[in-house]
Amino acid sequence: MEQNYLDNLVGVFGHPVAENPGVVIQEAAFEHMGLKRWRFLTIDVEKDQLGDAIRGLKAFKMRGINCTIPHKIEVMDYLDEVSEAARLIGAVNTIVNTNGKLFGDNTDGKGFMMSLKSNNISVQGKKAVVFGAGGAARAICVEMALAGLSQITIVNRVEDRALGDALTAILRNNTGAQVSYADWSGLHSVSADADIVVNATSVGLYPNVNELPNIDLGSIKPNMFVQDVIPNPTETALIKKMRKMGISCATGAGMLINQAAINIKMWTGMEPDKDVMYRALEKALRQE
Ligand code: NDP
Repeated sequence: MEQNYLDNLVGVFGHPVAENPGVVIQEAAFEHMGLKRWRFLTIDVEKDQLGDAIRGLKAFKMRGINCTIPHKIEVMDYLDEVSEAARLIGAVNTIVNTNGKLFGDNTDGKGFMMSLKSNNISVQGKKAVVFGAGGAARAICVEMALAGLSQITIVNRVEDRALGDALTAILRNNTGAQVSYADWSGLHSVSADADIVVNATSVGLYPNVNELPNIDLGSIKPNMFVQDVIPNPTETALIKKMRKMGISCATGAGMLINQAAINIKMWTGMEPDKDVMYRALEKALRQE
């Protein structure tokens, strides 16, 4: 039998990053796929040391890396090529290293789209209301608009937040979607003609698990589909309410697993088992 103890390294650069559950999901998938020498490393990289970290990635011949806060935008300066979606979103969360050439993509919005698809939701010709205008909202809006969404309303508290303004311009200039912005100053009622409602804020994220976004929940009707982005807890207060009201919905955990599955396919060329990944995430979060 050939003796090869060389590790295939992937991982995540972030700061803070200790609470990032990526390793749990990815290594459960590797083990299930029989990829014995694949390792996912959680690496704390401070903002001003990203350049050194990228040089290290190349020196160690790492197969790829995820980037999270605060590196998603700055890392674009170190890449040889980026996908069209990542260019429009203005952020990269996944890098593939092919013999020292770095390709960057953004799989946040793609994981979101796969979550919609696995719930039999198409965005073609549909109207969406997206709460939030941060990095996640940006990736989600760009992917939905590129996939043929007809109308999108972005609802955020801070109108002049750079991302909010830039986002509406990017969508108008690069996609066929009609875009509008609504100020989120009080309780917001979802327009009756909406098809897809997205919570792309951090409201409800652990440890604030009882927090609900300031939305008139009664304005969400059974013909709408609600997608949350929060992966921890796997069921947010919003998702619990939606289930009680009989509204079709999907959790941010599904989006996270789908996103991680795309990363694994990009790095290994193989399709992981998402049920294995989901079970690993639930088990890890239960032990917190
Ligand atoms: P950002 O910091 O870039 O954006 C946060 C957004 O949430 C902003 O629009 C902010 O609004 C809004 N917000 C925060 N608190 C409130 C509040 N109390 N009321 C109303 N709006 C609020 O974060 P990201 O976009 O990167 O991440 C957002 C969430 O998405 C996080 O919880 C993250 O875990 C999740 N995420 C999930 C992924 C997945 O795969 N499931 C992938 C990526 C992110 P304002 O501008 O007014 O401050």
